[in-house]
Amino acid sequence: MVKLPFDIKDIKPGEFSYLSKRKLNNRKGEETGEIFIWKKKGELEHSFSIKCPHCLSEENGTVVLNRRPYRLRCPNCNRSITLKKLKDL
Ligand SMILES: [Zn+2]
Repeated sequence: MVKLPFDIKDIKPGEFSYLSKRKLNNRKGEETGEIFIWKKKGELEHSFSIKCPHCLSEENGTVVLNRRPYRLRCPNCNRSITLKKLKDL
């Protein structure tokens, strides 16, 4: 379970424009990773907390997502991670 830098219970209505949790698969298709990704209203970047499906490292970072499919890189192993089926970002 990925740790978040805030408590979901403390979120006020309208504070976030996006918040989602996804399972992430490694190259064998196994669900070895997980990501929380969110954006607060007024911010340009998405923030994320990830357990990388490739290296299993737990990392935090920010990313600008503007073209589909949405991709980010693991801050630890630098491998590309594609976010599938993310809607309404
Ligand atoms: Zn990694």
